[in-house]
Amino acid sequence: MRRVYLDHHSTTPLDPRVLEAMIPFLTEKFGNASSRTHAFGREAEEGVECARAQVASLLGAQPRDIVFTSGATESDNLALQGVASFYRDRGNHIITSRIEHRAVLDTCRALEKQGFEVTSLPVDSCGSVDPEAVSRALTARTILISIIYASHEIGTVQEIQAIGKIAKEREIFFHCDATQGAGKEPIDVDALGVDLLSLSAHKIYGPKGIGALYVRRRKPRVRLEPLVHGGGQERNFRSGTLNVPAIAGFGKACELAGAEMDEERSRLVRLRALLHQRLSRLEGVGLNGHPERRLAGNLNLSFADVEARALLRALGNEIALSPGAACTSAVPEPSYVLRAIGLPLELTLSSVRFGLGRFNTEEEVRWAADRVAETVEELRSRPF
Ligand SMILES: *Cc1c(COP(=O)(O)O)cnc(C)c1O
Repeated sequence: MRRVYLDHHSTTPLDPRVLEAMIPFLTEKFGNASSRTHAFGREAEEGVECARAQVASLLGAQPRDIVFTSGATESDNLALQGVASFYRDRGNHIITSRIEHRAVLDTCRALEKQGFEVTSLPVDSCGSVDPEAVSRALTARTILISIIYASHEIGTVQEIQAIGKIAKEREIFFHCDATQGAGKEPIDVDALGVDLLSLSAHKIYGPKGIGALYVRRRKPRVRLEPLVHGGGQERNFRSGTLNVPAIAGFGKACELAGAEMDEERSRLVRLRALLHQRLSRLEGVGLNGHPERRLAGNLNLSFADVEARALLRALGNEIALSPGAACTSAVPEPSYVLRAIGLPLELTLSSVRFGLGRFNTEEEVRWAADRVAETVEELRSRPF
């Protein structure tokens, strides 16, 4: 049976060129990157440092600003908990938004239990955070602002630069979860005024279980209390023997994403327009998220009078799609992101996220659009 993968916000397939870059470090170059006394270790270290430069280059950062982690969940935890613990004497207030990934939301919840105060800013009907609202929420006790770069659910891209400017003016650290934006949108940490930035390899055609946190070292220098203690790797921010093959793959994935970004973006915008246009032939289709300021591969649609779960069940063996955020899809709960944009409850349960990616073809998109349209009509014609 034919299968089409349209769930690239959950994860992406490994690019064959990434696999190729990993293989030497899974075979002959197996050394511990911290064992600098011999050639085995030095080869591994070289692989790590090459990857560090590749990741940094994608973000306009210095290689020394990159800390490897197990993924964006850990990066978000390290950024928030690390700043909160280190700067506890300076203040206890954190500003974030209602549409963050659970890795940020739940970390904030845990910090609240430790006495921190969290302001969760609302978003407008397109899913945008108003930079002025960030400004108004600042208090003398604020130590950190954490705003997502682009929504993993509705694709809305935030005005990060405007928020970064406010953070700089008020001298507050600014963390950005750019897991969905890095490698897809041009990101420059200096231009954006970001001090901490999370990203993950498996969202950009790299391996799972590896990510990074950008930590600004100068103007201002950000200090963090580590979450994991031990051998002192990664500037003491994240101890543990480095996963060299995964890091090498992550570096290659960043290099490819940077080199092919413009072309890939315009191709995905075209495919998304095709998908949207074909599905818009149906009655009762609504677009969730921002009409323009959104990730190229993201299309989030509501199909009135159709239960998203039923639609995905009917298509599940052929077309991989997600009802709202994948992380919460095990729980039959309406997506908090769709609730935050003010979508009526009924439509939140009728919403489907399409995530297009690097290896999707035009022919696949046409076929999938027609299969979805057929299935929507079939479900609507069924008596309750
Ligand atoms: C996927 C994702 C994460 C979690 O990343 P992992 O590397 O899977 O831990 C965090 N934030 C956003 C926005 C994501 O899309």
